[in-house]
Amino acid sequence: MIQEKTVENAVADILRLIGEDPLRPGLKGTPQRVAEMYRELFAGIDQDPAQELMAGVEEGHHDLVILKDIAFYSMCEHHLLPFFGSAHIGYLPTSRVVGISKMVRALDVLAHRPQLQERLTAQMADTMFSALQAEGVAVVLKAEHLCMSMRGVQKPGAQVVTSAIRGTFRRGSLARREILTVLAGSAV
Ligand SMILES: [Zn+2]
Repeated sequence: MIQEKTVENAVADILRLIGEDPLRPGLKGTPQRVAEMYRELFAGIDQDPAQELMAGVEEGHHDLVILKDIAFYSMCEHHLLPFFGSAHIGYLPTSRVVGISKMVRALDVLAHRPQLQERLTAQMADTMFSALQAEGVAVVLKAEHLCMSMRGVQKPGAQVVTSAIRGTFRRGSLARREILTVLAGSAV
């Protein structure tokens, strides 16, 4: 749980240190707003994403399940600027399947932390793989990073694509070809 009052004071300090007046009318409520926003954006730090996947049902379902174009927003831990885009998730259940909204919730828990896109992708795949005891999991994330678009190399619109594959999909199987074909053709 973040210490909002301390964050508020720290934001006021930053404003002062960049040469601004945190008490001028436009900025007066900013430290408090940023502190409240951080509580929301970083709410996933002390949450367990696997908890979201516990409510699965035994379906005896063994075919590929694919969820495409899930919008996500996260914060790059190097710059504390947003990166955002879409996630595509596929898994091969052993028998337990989970509701679509639960997968989205698990991704949100992981995204609401200071993150790296590579780690977010890997953590989502690991969470699905162990919590669902899935036979295989594939996660593809495509995102734009504001720390690349607004500063540094300044390449707006450039997409970073990361993928993580666990289980059966690793072994040159038909399922692997199937899932990569579907996920690669996803809209961004
Ligand atoms: Zn960054």
